[in-house]
Amino acid sequence: MFAGIWKGYNWQESHVGYVTNGVHMPTWAASEWKAFYTEHLGAQVFENQSDPEAWKGIFKVKDEDIWNMRMALKNKFINFVRREFKARWLANQGDPSAVMEIVDKINPNALIIGFARRFATYKRAHLLFTDLDRLDKIVNNEKFPVQFIYSGKAHPADGAGQGLIKRIKEISKMPQFLGKIIFLEDYNMIVAKRLVTGVDIWLNTPTRPLEASGTSGEKAEMNGVLNFSVLDGWWYEGYRFNEKAGWSLTDKRTFTDQAQQDKLDAATIYSMLENEIVPLYFKKNYKGFSPEWIQYIKRSIGRIAPHFTMKRQLDDYISRFYEPEARRCHALAAHNFKEAREIVEWKENFASRWNGIQILGSEFTESNAQGAARTGDRFDVCCTVNTNGLGDSLGVELVMYKDKDGVSTYSGRKDLVITGHEGDIYHYELKDQMKEAGVFRYSLRMYPKNDRLPHRQDFAYVRWF
Ligand SMILES: *Cc1c(COP(=O)(O)O)cnc(C)c1O
Repeated sequence: MFAGIWKGYNWQESHVGYVTNGVHMPTWAASEWKAFYTEHLGAQVFENQSDPEAWKGIFKVKDEDIWNMRMALKNKFINFVRREFKARWLANQGDPSAVMEIVDKINPNALIIGFARRFATYKRAHLLFTDLDRLDKIVNNEKFPVQFIYSGKAHPADGAGQGLIKRIKEISKMPQFLGKIIFLEDYNMIVAKRLVTGVDIWLNTPTRPLEASGTSGEKAEMNGVLNFSVLDGWWYEGYRFNEKAGWSLTDKRTFTDQAQQDKLDAATIYSMLENEIVPLYFKKNYKGFSPEWIQYIKRSIGRIAPHFTMKRQLDDYISRFYEPEARRCHALAAHNFKEAREIVEWKENFASRWNGIQILGSEFTESNAQGAARTGDRFDVCCTVNTNGLGDSLGVELVMYKDKDGVSTYSGRKDLVITGHEGDIYHYELKDQMKEAGVFRYSLRMYPKNDRLPHRQDFAYVRWF
């Protein structure tokens, strides 16, 4: 995002950092789960929620306790849908028998998949409906029933988003999808909480790479609800903590044409449901649940959820930004802003002399003069610069790039040291060794050098040789 702002620097050298979003666990974990965590992991888990160690007790919990909890919340969700939406559907849909059919068909023994969010078009709520025949077979498999619950709102000015909602409602009224694809109106925090605590799987299918975060998936994690999502937004990081705690669609685009990409993604979703996810869910033991599914839940609670709480988010803000910023602020302001004044003076002097700097020469020599360089070979870079009175305030560095598959990627930088000077004429040198195999490019660059600057972009003068 910030690649082009500081000319002369690579984006990997940028000081701009980030903090991944998290969600507030006391708000988004069901009260039943909070009591469960207190009982099995101890109240410490709330204090230490961003530390995976605090969650490791989840792996010792009996499988049936997890399953019973999931079923209790699933039933609570189904009762909520029956209660809250029956009256509205009866008022709006006209046909009472169709409404009763929907309500009766919501099945706690089905694999229930939830999808709820703003209906911004990049979120691709329509993706599942790309091949209705194939979807028909998935939801109407008598042995392994699957249901989808949708909810969400479109912005009042977003006609395309509203169109998607209309289309999903139409599909939900087709005979083969009645009670199998359900759309809940008036998405809000209450509906969101029932959904992210009550379904089995949370689905997210954004257009890569447009998902900023997708926080509802983080809410699902702390409720034992597994994520199935494009590797984008938070799941790009979340999935990597444990790949047997949810499912992903690759982050790579295959097609530049979005319609083709949508088709491919839809086919991948169907096939993963058919071959992987549905069979895993219904691989039930004599106690009525799939032990492997419970392992997925345990890993998702124990290994992924801790990294996506608001506590972790605040920890990151504090340690990466607020504390360093506070320390710097105190240092700059101490003794009537002594440090701040000195830095300003140094910067003004540097800026006034910058244009007068002259590069007088540079040289690169390899120890192995005959033939191609090998790893372990030594090399020597030196240069001479008229620093125009700047002396050791002027840094000179070697910047390296690695070429691979036609792409040149920044791979590091190393300072040259001053070996001597005659007045303003300074000699710099770096003696080093080839450490890695491959094709490298290198160049020299000079910059204002001062340990008291917070980072290079604070005073972004830079010149390539
Ligand atoms: C969590 C939440 C959102 C945001 O969800 P995303 O997955 O980030 O799109 C939107 N609306 C409600 C009501 C929510 O609870």
